[in-house]
Amino acid sequence: MNEHDSEQMLRILEGYDYAETKVAKEAHLILINTCSVREKPEHKVYSALGRYKWLKEKKGTIIGVAGCVAQQEGSRLLDRIPYLDMVIGTHAIPMLPHLLQKIEISGERVCETSYDKDGEYLKAVLPEKRLDKVKSYVTIMQGCDHFCSFCIVPYVRGREKSRPSREIIEEVAHLAEMGVKEVCLLGQNVNGYGKGLEEEINFSELLERINQIEGIERIRFTTSHPKDLSEELIEAFSKLPKLCEHIHLPFQSGSDKILKAMHRGYTKESYLEKIDRLKKVCPSIAVTSDVIVGFPGEEEGDFKETLDLMERIQFDDLYSFKYSPRKGTRAAQFEDKVEEKVKQERLSILQEIQKEITLRKNQELEGCTEEVLVEGQSKQSTQDVTGRTRSNKIVNFEGNLNLVGKLVPTRITKGYSHSLRGETTSG
Ligand code: SAM
Ligand code: SF4
Repeated sequence: MNEHDSEQMLRILEGYDYAETKVAKEAHLILINTCSVREKPEHKVYSALGRYKWLKEKKGTIIGVAGCVAQQEGSRLLDRIPYLDMVIGTHAIPMLPHLLQKIEISGERVCETSYDKDGEYLKAVLPEKRLDKVKSYVTIMQGCDHFCSFCIVPYVRGREKSRPSREIIEEVAHLAEMGVKEVCLLGQNVNGYGKGLEEEINFSELLERINQIEGIERIRFTTSHPKDLSEELIEAFSKLPKLCEHIHLPFQSGSDKILKAMHRGYTKESYLEKIDRLKKVCPSIAVTSDVIVGFPGEEEGDFKETLDLMERIQFDDLYSFKYSPRKGTRAAQFEDKVEEKVKQERLSILQEIQKEITLRKNQELEGCTEEVLVEGQSKQSTQDVTGRTRSNKIVNFEGNLNLVGKLVPTRITKGYSHSLRGETTSG
């Protein structure tokens, strides 16, 4: 979502004669987009700001902080960083030109973090020219009403708000005209899509409509909450040809006691049942997930439940995190904290197990032919192109840039831990 927000800010600024530079010292404006979901990314903001201080002093570069840290800290950031010009919260992106103008004209330092009830922040700025990429994110909703006890998102992104389907369809159709072949629909809890809209529509119906848009070859979405994953959505994986066979379904913990303390609203058994249903409806579906270790009160037995769930499901990939207390969330007040050393040990054990599972699953694909949407040149070799399978696995193979944007049948020759090697079978 942050990546998408950065792109939106760039598009807004392009409309005001700004152009992107990769060289910081050439910039007139440096805007740091931020994440506060864990402590580590939050700290990175301060080190990034430190790196750019000299530019402010030497060249008068305008420096701003956007995103979740901006929303969370507000004017405290201006107090803490004397050379910071702008703090722009998660709902204030459309106000960017106005805020910049204020800084340019009066030299005033600005902070805008109010919540926008009308949903202006959800409106997308559409690209005017053909894009040099084949896939794009599309926001369908923002915010979250779940309030999991560890999570800062509802506090920094606000409550759930959906975009009208007409706007989403128009955006996807426009992206298709601009050369996009794959869209990934974004929301903190896509299953909640439609709530509060005047029209009657749910997420599965939205998918059906997007499936009909000409030029779009593939649809993905993130993130779905296990509690709200409906039977209708599960069945969409067998009904909608463009919906890719991949779901990211964060489980967070395999222990019912911890899931309850996290306020997740499901149990280990009910999570396993949902995965069973998904695999019945769509046997080739790839499942990835998020997990947290060291949540307050997590004992050895709870951690074993997490490992057991992983062993039973055999995720294609897993994003694993040490629990990081977030100020203002309920879990930050919980007393029975897990020692840092124990968190680290558990994380290492879990990651080692997952590494083997991922490698084995990738190796199982050797000899199979997969449809790859080619995205561009591979980073490793100018002879190679890179793309993804429908199950979202990276494949590199020898080929030229004419293949970019094409769906290429590719025979997998080798499975590694983070990618696959292949060769085209289309001649
Ligand atoms: N909405 C998604 C869901 O409910 O599954 C998750 C969105 S959250 C921004 C992304 C991931 O960050 C979560 O799935 C969780 O694993 C991790 N996360 C969130 N808060 C965290 C915290 N306080 N400490 C560690 N990891 C956290
Ligand atoms: Fe955070 Fe996801 Fe829970 Fe919402 S559903 S509070 S975004 S973890």
